[in-house]
Amino acid sequence: DEDRALIDAEPGSQDDDDNAGPLPVLAVVGRPNVGKSTLVNRILGRREAVVEDVPGVTRDRVAYEAEWTGRRFTLVDTGGWEVDAKGIHLRVAEQAEVAVELADAVMFVVDATVGATDTDEAVVKMLRRSGKPVILVANKVDDQRAEADAAMLWGLGLGQPWPVSALHGRGSGDVLDEVLRVLPEVSKVGGAYERGGPRRVALLGRPNVGKSSLLNKLAGEERVVVDNVAGTTRDPVDELIRLGDTTWRFVDTAGIRRRVHQTRGADFYASLRTQSALEKAEVAIVLVDAGEPISEQDIRVIQQVVDAGRALIVAYNKWDTVDEERRYYLEREIERELVQIQWAPRVNLSALTGRNTGKLVPYLETALDSWDTRVPTGRLNAFLGEIVAGHPHPVRGGKQPRILFATQASTRPPRFVIFASGFIEAGYRRFLERRLREEFGFEGTPIEISVRVRE
Ligand code: GDP
Ligand code: GDP
Repeated sequence: DEDRALIDAEPGSQDDDDNAGPLPVLAVVGRPNVGKSTLVNRILGRREAVVEDVPGVTRDRVAYEAEWTGRRFTLVDTGGWEVDAKGIHLRVAEQAEVAVELADAVMFVVDATVGATDTDEAVVKMLRRSGKPVILVANKVDDQRAEADAAMLWGLGLGQPWPVSALHGRGSGDVLDEVLRVLPEVSKVGGAYERGGPRRVALLGRPNVGKSSLLNKLAGEERVVVDNVAGTTRDPVDELIRLGDTTWRFVDTAGIRRRVHQTRGADFYASLRTQSALEKAEVAIVLVDAGEPISEQDIRVIQQVVDAGRALIVAYNKWDTVDEERRYYLEREIERELVQIQWAPRVNLSALTGRNTGKLVPYLETALDSWDTRVPTGRLNAFLGEIVAGHPHPVRGGKQPRILFATQASTRPPRFVIFASGFIEAGYRRFLERRLREEFGFEGTPIEISVRVRE
């Protein structure tokens, strides 16, 4: 079956960029009004973008693609946050904490004309805990005279303060050189902000479920094979396949097409292939042979997708072999074995006859939309406020943990961080997940909820 043409990606082409992995991420954090947005605009080389003079304008994190001396990176503006006069320290730390968690390095901006405040000190503690490289920007150093203000910031214990005037551009080149020095080439935090290129699909499932049959059916004659691993193994080849009006990138298809002959260790290699395909994919179609009992191996593949945080569609293949009796048992098996992934769209199809294969595209789109969904912080907290008021956490040992604040830390998949006054039980977390799904959909994507306890 090797009579197809291999089109090698040209060096320096888009594919090259894709393979380089996610861009490194720089988060800009600091108190309101220290000049973060001005600095971000300066780095992006824009003047037109809105800079708010009012502290406390609610904005979620915004990610931009930035470049300095030919190197690209993702720049995340933590903008503003919900200012609650009583809890400002808390809010600052929360927003910053989430941004920092998803960054490879942090630019911590302080207003040198004001000096370090208690809030700044609180952020410093959190930055130390994070272990991420920190670049301390002493902003509003508009002239030589103000450099003494910057020097005062040595006292924060974060090393050298970089004097900058975001407004006039003074010192911004030096600080960007330093940024590039500390940023890794490729993001180590998983490219939570990555965008662009054809969407990437992994076709997964145990041997003989019909992966290569489905791939052939979908690809028809119009496929482009992209050899994306220069000079290493020939196995993980991607194919660009046009379905409907969209081109999709099916990852690691060579491993699907090439029949695996060895029996010993086949399981191990299958799971390795699944893992490497998932690294690259955004969404997975897991094939299950509908004609046979759902196996442990099927469940393991599905679990791998969920653990990798990828969007998921389950395709019950060989539907042409399913009679009424088998169908009855299959439904029972699904209820028993796959309740935890009720959120994943299900397609009953036949790679052999082509039945229902056309349904895959709308489900891929839905699942990816869900995977990309961002719930604005204000809306999330309003909703949590309602459900918590209706169903508060049970009292344990005379205490009742309260939910203080929540934010969506990332998309792809949606990850939520809830700040609470005490330990939140697993049952209550599941309840929150269920309600979040009811409210916001998330069909086809896993979601994660983590809880931070604040005294
Ligand atoms: P953010 O809330 O941290 O994003 O701060 P902004 O970027 O909105 O800036 C707050 C205010 O500080 C605005 O009035 C800016 O014009 C001003 N500002 C920002 N950078 C500088 C600077 O380098 N020098 C001076 N003098 N003012 C600045
Ligand atoms: P892979 O190992 O997952 O790539 O599976 P293949 O695509 O090689 O298919 C394994 C066997 O199942 C082959 O004999 C296919 O012809 C058969 N097969 C695949 N899809 C279907 C289907 O929808 N219906 C039936 N009846 N057989 C199928």
